[in-house]
Amino acid sequence: MVLRVAAPVPLRRPFDYLAPEGQRQGSLSPGMRLRVPFGKREITAILLEVVEEASVDAEQLRAAVDVLDSESLLSSSMMALCNWSSDYYQHPVGEVFSAAIPKALREGRGLSETHWRLTTRGEGLPEGALSRARSQAKALSLLQCGEQLPETLKAEGVSSAVLRELTSKGLIERCRASASIPSAELEQEGPPLGSEQAQAVEAVAWGSFSSHLLQGVTGSGKTEVYLRLIAACLERGEQALVLIPEIGLTPQTVKRFEGRFKSPVAVLHSGLSDGQRFAAWQAAQAGTAGIVIGTRSAIFTPLARPGLIVVDEEHDGSYKQQDGFRYSARDVAVKRAQLENCPVILGSATPSLESLENARRGRYEHHFLRGRQGGGELPMLETVDLRSLHLNAGISDYLMAAIRDTVEIQKRQALLFLNRRGFAPTLQCHSCGWVAGCDHCDARLTVHLRKRCLRCHHCAAQRALPSHCPDCGGTSLLTHGLGTEQTEEFLRSVLRCPVHRVDSDAMRGVDAMQSLLEVAHSEEPCVILGTQMLTKGHHFPAVQLVGVIDADALLYSADFRGEERMAQLVVQVAGRAGRESAGGKVLIQTHYPDDPLFGALRDGHFESITSSLLEKRRSSGQPPYGQLMLLRSDARNERDGEAFLRAVQKEAKPYLPSDCQLIGPLPSAMPRRAGRFRWQLWCLSSSRRGAMTAARLLVDRAETLKKPRELSWFIDVDPSDVL
Ligand code: ADP
Ligand code: ZN
Ligand code: ZN
Repeated sequence: MVLRVAAPVPLRRPFDYLAPEGQRQGSLSPGMRLRVPFGKREITAILLEVVEEASVDAEQLRAAVDVLDSESLLSSSMMALCNWSSDYYQHPVGEVFSAAIPKALREGRGLSETHWRLTTRGEGLPEGALSRARSQAKALSLLQCGEQLPETLKAEGVSSAVLRELTSKGLIERCRASASIPSAELEQEGPPLGSEQAQAVEAVAWGSFSSHLLQGVTGSGKTEVYLRLIAACLERGEQALVLIPEIGLTPQTVKRFEGRFKSPVAVLHSGLSDGQRFAAWQAAQAGTAGIVIGTRSAIFTPLARPGLIVVDEEHDGSYKQQDGFRYSARDVAVKRAQLENCPVILGSATPSLESLENARRGRYEHHFLRGRQGGGELPMLETVDLRSLHLNAGISDYLMAAIRDTVEIQKRQALLFLNRRGFAPTLQCHSCGWVAGCDHCDARLTVHLRKRCLRCHHCAAQRALPSHCPDCGGTSLLTHGLGTEQTEEFLRSVLRCPVHRVDSDAMRGVDAMQSLLEVAHSEEPCVILGTQMLTKGHHFPAVQLVGVIDADALLYSADFRGEERMAQLVVQVAGRAGRESAGGKVLIQTHYPDDPLFGALRDGHFESITSSLLEKRRSSGQPPYGQLMLLRSDARNERDGEAFLRAVQKEAKPYLPSDCQLIGPLPSAMPRRAGRFRWQLWCLSSSRRGAMTAARLLVDRAETLKKPRELSWFIDVDPSDVL
């Protein structure tokens, strides 16, 4: 009997061990943890399978030290999901399993005993025992109904002193949660559904795999559809897993879920401590939480009884992990639903081209919510032709007049979008033309006046704002271009109302976002100026005007997804306007008002934009019509990466499936970043099968080729960003 395991090391293969002395085969199942010797250390590994024959010489096999679990931590579908993800994304299997198992367990600790229960002695107590010690009797009677969380007991007035007392009498003990079925009861009823909402809810069949795309503008009632589906899922005694882009930015989403259901909600995101994460993971795995809400990595949380998966804002870029294990949580969600045999719902006002194409091909059922709840009108969209207009901090007189009208006459709020933080993206010497650049990247340093420094937005470089030119000593330094700080300053100088800036410099921590939301809901007249951060699911009830200050920066991106992102972004920011207030307006400043993209946006046709973008993709064989992956290298030496990728290309070419082609190697759009030169080899395939074969081939060749020591490479399957 040979145990094949996934070890948490960056190697793309499993490892074989002999069973620990005296271990019976029947007591082992995939998904249990083992302690195994690894080099000179001992590590915790996950059992993948028990096989007859080892892949290495039997002589060399070492024995596992210990089996840590009496039952598997992961169901067979979770095992299959991790194995599939490792293969599909060509990422080391041990590291993929690390995404599914919290740190404490990876370090070999046991599942924690989170609950209290009666001991056999406690169960045998005669009725009315301890009736003189009232709170002890109370604790016993609560525990007679079953195991309880300490918090529940506390809420009933049982103190920890009482629990200690009872423990010392041998009447109660700590225990692990046993899989109980969470309550399907509602804390609060939802409103009666509109007909489109009801249709979407009814279209979801339970107990089998199906995928659904729910498309509706912000405020059209998508979340209400999720809540109804979750209620139905809980009724079946099953759990729902909900993915949202960023919890820190949308605390009210979580509150809405918690407010609706009696069942506990387990929340998983990057802001948790290891202990909190472990507790939430256990509540999901044991089945004590009926609802699990989390960001990207929550897709790998095991569930005792999975019944439904929801991916809100499915187009959002944060679902793609950009380093290490580069997976797309949205795509993994669909695979998981297939393996768990349950429905998956992808929701968005602006679905990705991938999902729209899947809907067109009938792989996803497409449901629309066309109106806004409460009848709020969709805002009017207008372009402002910037050609030869005078601008103040990027704002035309036309936009300024609209801002004034909104905050001063109508006493409403204005929301302005500018996707660049800092004061200005360039600092230049007026005497000699010197420009402040980053020493480590092919990029300019951004001027941050508030902090009086220059910062690189691509690496951690930062230095004090110079008082004179380092080349000629000249003291006349100019800033070029525009950032949020500058526009904020200008608006403060001309308006009497408050101006709030929302970008990652101004919004450190959850509290900052919380106070912004309070401002938004207070409905006091003000201007809210921000970056991308503004587009994420917030409701701004009093916003009457939305201004996009520089649409051109978005239109002319080097990334093939640039136009798609631009269209999504404009529709998303527009969605923040005037839901409760009639007659909202969106002004888009551009030098290219005739671009067909704006025409379609003006007419309110996200569909016509997406179909023309899909046509473009089809003719060039780009995703979703072809599958793209990049083999990327980065190295200190300028030419090493290119030479390495060229060698991989040469080795792989003869074996490449006929429906795949290799393009490159090409330098990245920013060739040098943080002191390293970046190159990429593109692989475009017309079938998924071909792409997976090619991915294995490229990785296999890259692993066996000799490479310069400080060169590193990785593969990015379905990259969201090719810059
Ligand atoms: P979305 O998720 O698409 O932004 P929500 O589900 O948050 O939309 O709905 C927007 C607002 O309308 C919320 O305040 C919600 O409570 C309310 N709402 C949703 N559906 C209904 C309905 N059928 N009847 C009345 N109000 C509704
Ligand atoms: Zn100079
Ligand atoms: Zn830099």
